[in-house]
Amino acid sequence: MKITNEFKCVFPAVSANEALARASLSAFLIPADPTAQELADLRTVISEAVTNAIVHGYRNSSGEVSICLRMLPNRVLYIRVSDKGCGIPDIKKAMEPLYTSVPEEERAGLGFAIMQEFTDNLHVRSTPNHGTTLTMRRKLGQIYAE
Ligand code: ATP
Ligand code: MG
Repeated sequence: MKITNEFKCVFPAVSANEALARASLSAFLIPADPTAQELADLRTVISEAVTNAIVHGYRNSSGEVSICLRMLPNRVLYIRVSDKGCGIPDIKKAMEPLYTSVPEEERAGLGFAIMQEFTDNLHVRSTPNHGTTLTMRRKLGQIYAE
């Protein structure tokens, strides 16, 4: 996998850092000149992934969230978000649209559906009590000269 650029960071799992993740992604994407739509989609994607790590992964604990962004050849953006939290017991169920393990908190259960909609592929690896890693890819459109 040839990498043309890469950004990694690790931060405490607190909700204030959701904005940090969005801002990091925006800054990383600037050189690729994404469309406003691509930028909006991908900011939403990283926000959903990081929020899940914070509110679900570290529900009864504290810890760190890691993100890794890569620009791969052919304008493919790679996003990895991982936590070392509680893990997901049933990944298939968790990914069903409208499924949430915390309906009492007025969550829509749409985070995974949104991430799937706005990326070309999403892979979830999770081990109960060890954590969860999401990897996603999205190909950006070509840039046409005026
Ligand atoms: P919404 O994203 O709409 O606010 P939600 O977070 O419950 O609601 P999803 O993002 O689709 O919905 O996640 C579905 C379920 O998967 C969550 O309710 C939670 O049980 C589980 N889950 C998701 N990410 C993680 C994670 N990083 N660690 C542990 N559990 C997770
Ligand atoms: Mg969610």
